[in-house]
Amino acid sequence: MADIIKLLPDHVANQIAAGEVVQRPASVVKELMENAIDAGATAIKLIIKDGGKTLIQVVDNGVGMTETDARLSFERHATSKISSAQDLFNLQTKGFRGEALASIAAIAHVDMQTRTNVNEIGTQIKIEGSKIVSQDVVATPKGTSISVKNLFFNIPARRNFLKSNQVELRHITDEFQRVAMVHPNIEFHFYNNGSEIFNLPITKPRQRIVHIFGSKMENRLVPVNEETEVVKVSGFICKPEFAKKSRGEQFFFANNRFIKSPYLHHAVVAAFEGLIKSDTYPGYFLYLDVDPSSIDINIHPTKTEVKFDDENTLYAILRSTIKHSLGQFNVAPVLDFDHDPNLDTPYSYKEKGAIIPKVTVDAAFNPFEETATQRSNGGGSFRKQSAKGWEDLYEGLGHQSDQNTFSSIVIESESEEQGTLYSGEEVEEHLASTFQLRRKYVVSTVKSGMLVIHQNRAHERVLFEKFLGEITVKEGVSQQLLFPLELTFNQQELTVLKEIHESLTNIGFAFQSLDEETVKVTGVPMMVPESGIGTVLDRLIADYTEGFADGSISQAEMLAKALSRNLAVKTGNVLDQESQLMLVNNLFACKEPTLSPFQKITYTIISEGDIDKKFN
Ligand code: ADP
Ligand code: MG
Repeated sequence: MADIIKLLPDHVANQIAAGEVVQRPASVVKELMENAIDAGATAIKLIIKDGGKTLIQVVDNGVGMTETDARLSFERHATSKISSAQDLFNLQTKGFRGEALASIAAIAHVDMQTRTNVNEIGTQIKIEGSKIVSQDVVATPKGTSISVKNLFFNIPARRNFLKSNQVELRHITDEFQRVAMVHPNIEFHFYNNGSEIFNLPITKPRQRIVHIFGSKMENRLVPVNEETEVVKVSGFICKPEFAKKSRGEQFFFANNRFIKSPYLHHAVVAAFEGLIKSDTYPGYFLYLDVDPSSIDINIHPTKTEVKFDDENTLYAILRSTIKHSLGQFNVAPVLDFDHDPNLDTPYSYKEKGAIIPKVTVDAAFNPFEETATQRSNGGGSFRKQSAKGWEDLYEGLGHQSDQNTFSSIVIESESEEQGTLYSGEEVEEHLASTFQLRRKYVVSTVKSGMLVIHQNRAHERVLFEKFLGEITVKEGVSQQLLFPLELTFNQQELTVLKEIHESLTNIGFAFQSLDEETVKVTGVPMMVPESGIGTVLDRLIADYTEGFADGSISQAEMLAKALSRNLAVKTGNVLDQESQLMLVNNLFACKEPTLSPFQKITYTIISEGDIDKKFN
């Protein structure tokens, strides 16, 4: 038989390698920025057009390349950074594979201009799909400028796979931030479609974080510092009261590289135990310095996964270091747990079983306290439930859910302040009557027996379908605000807002502009109480960012889910008669009344037979 194994031509091999190194525009940004840093740049400019699909350009003032090096840099496994396998164990640079430029050049149109300190004149190389198109001498500043156009031009499948410009921009922003965060001694500029979105001057680590994440970070950061034989830990944690529902502001860097480590994340969370609610995540920016020989970054081409020699020790050190910081800066005792039953229902209460919950919340605390008066006349259609004290919080948590005792089946007391869900709307009264059980269920009779509706889930379903409809047909009713509300967002949050701007407008939100950190909200959907706008938007961004991580559902669906979850009546809310009826009618007018948008059962019917059995 004839020999059948052939060596792949270089351009094919490069394309295959590119598949690993370049997943999306953000990967190019990462590689180019890292090269600039390895080249000793003190100022780096990133220029993006159309989420990086049209242009990604990185300009640095580093050492530049000679003509020969410029040419060689596009060869696979050409690197100036290591020369022997031994060097792999003592990496001081970000790059070492010599694959990035070759890969990028294989799948895009690349234009490089570069000049070293000692040369008067620079080199310009244009290369498209691994083919050198031109090489010229050029007058160019010291340093290197690489522009990458038409990414994946020769791999249509990959190009089609790219997400919207806004989504790609968000990935790019993530990479940009991760790099900028470890190099406060380098000046960074980031332009998107002609406008500057980051301007980061040389500064101290703390200020760099503030510049990136917005001035609201200023009073949140608590320093962390510890030096042991195994590791030097530095950086910041966010005060526990700023723990968020979203994972987002959690950063580990090992030897100046951004890394992901669920294990070390766990160590941080463990240190915060008891100080934050279980469904929130602490923010942190932690820099670990370890002996380069004790860490292996070679596992994955995109290099965010690393292997430490002694993870267990690292875990223990990290945990105690953070505990120490929390204690030292007196963060622990000043904690205030905000638990607002209006906005915060434990969705997983079902799993909680019948154990008496440990009261670790300050029930009297109400995040809207200072605006309580504003809220009651804020045009929202929920009325706040009267804060009767912490017993109220137990309501609906189910610890007393002994359904067999007569006392647990009482109709909510008449004297309670009643919330109304729907005002001024006609209620179709085809149901005999309804009552509310434990501020959690709405109960009524139907032909076959007793109908029990889970008020929170049912309302989520109703709102979900309503919002989904509005987002797609753009018919949300907006309530104009008399005085525009000013809210502060960081760049990351702004990017998300821009991404979902159209959908938000469709359901009734109106913003004056989304280009500044301070955003003026001029209109909100009818459903949203004025005082809750900030919270709703924050959670929306958080939920959206979370949902985005799995990327499986459409933007409209994600938003409708997030909104319904944030705006639905909660377990613990008292509903007046009219609202109960409305809820029942609206639920059964839904396309899919049986399940909440989160796939939980919304109602059940207890048949006459079931009841009969109880009397046997
Ligand atoms: P690696 O970074 O792994 O070495 P790359 O393909 O990213 O591989 O780059 C190949 C080589 O090109 C680098 O080793 C470096 O010598 C040179 N190079 C790339 N970008 C720059 C830059 N911005 N300034 C100076 N030299 C660069
Ligand atoms: Mg590189």
